[in-house]
Amino acid sequence: METTFHIVIPLLLLLVFFPKLEKKYILGLLFLTILPDFDYMINANLHRFLFHNIFFVIGIILLVWFLWNKKAAIVGGFYLFSHLLFDFANGGFVALFWPIYSNLYSILFKIKYFGGLKFKIYLNWIMIEASEVNIQGGGDLLTMSGMVVIILLMLVAMVSWIKKR
Ligand SMILES: [Zn+2]
Repeated sequence: METTFHIVIPLLLLLVFFPKLEKKYILGLLFLTILPDFDYMINANLHRFLFHNIFFVIGIILLVWFLWNKKAAIVGGFYLFSHLLFDFANGGFVALFWPIYSNLYSILFKIKYFGGLKFKIYLNWIMIEASEVNIQGGGDLLTMSGMVVIILLMLVAMVSWIKKR
């Protein structure tokens, strides 16, 4: 999933469903929504391994708890897990239990429509071995659909700002 959605979707969920949650948590920890993808910068061969596993996520949650507080740790955990979930549910593969197991996991779900009343539902839990995976080639930082989302958000922000004045 491209970077824009990793940031925007969990951010909106928190803003909409937890309007009273302090902005210092919501915005101060926002970088955690994309932190897992920095493994690509460290070593492209370890992308989807190094920072995309539950041990890394739990480590960061504990660090945030230790350095800040429990509330921050919960928000941070939500951001980190949302990243893994989106990668994982988006037909992507994530090495959830690396370095103990280097298999990668993915969930494939779709409903296909064939016209009339014909539907087919697909739900597959897929596991592949690390040697089969080839995730080189760079991820999408921003695509047209991401641009559209950003423009829509800016419009909403502008309208609410004008209304408040
Ligand atoms: Zn990722």
